[in-house]
Amino acid sequence: MDTDPIAVERRLALFRRRCAERGLALTPQRLAIYHALAGDDSHPTAEALYRRVKPAMPSLSLGTVYRTLELLQGHGLVTRLHTTDDTARFDAERGEHHHFICTACSRVFDVPEAALPRPSVEPAALGGFRVEACRIQLLGVCPDCQRHV
Ligand SMILES: [Zn+2]
Ligand SMILES: [Zn+2]
Repeated sequence: MDTDPIAVERRLALFRRRCAERGLALTPQRLAIYHALAGDDSHPTAEALYRRVKPAMPSLSLGTVYRTLELLQGHGLVTRLHTTDDTARFDAERGEHHHFICTACSRVFDVPEAALPRPSVEPAALGGFRVEACRIQLLGVCPDCQRHV
């Protein structure tokens, strides 16, 4: 699933700005890995990104892709999500949103935050934990898979 080019440009511009703010060197590898992620809305795994970037960058190793994603995640530039099959998938979209995971094909889809009511959480019931974000994972069957049942 390729993202529309305007969204990719927006993500890249923000990425360059954030890297500059944080003094993070924009190496060709980091840029290529982020670019591949920003242009792929399927929430790819590190392996999928590696396969995508490798042809244009033969010296790239899978380990570098993992380390780069970890680094970018630590800087809040990418989000890592944990899916039902425990594979780490990555997301360049930083806006608040939820995810729908298809239990048949394992694809991950973005769900706009506005599509779901925000749960009201009683602070007392949480025993002192402070909620800073709410991400909901919906499980079900995507339209493509419903057609094949
Ligand atoms: Zn599906
Ligand atoms: Zn997402």
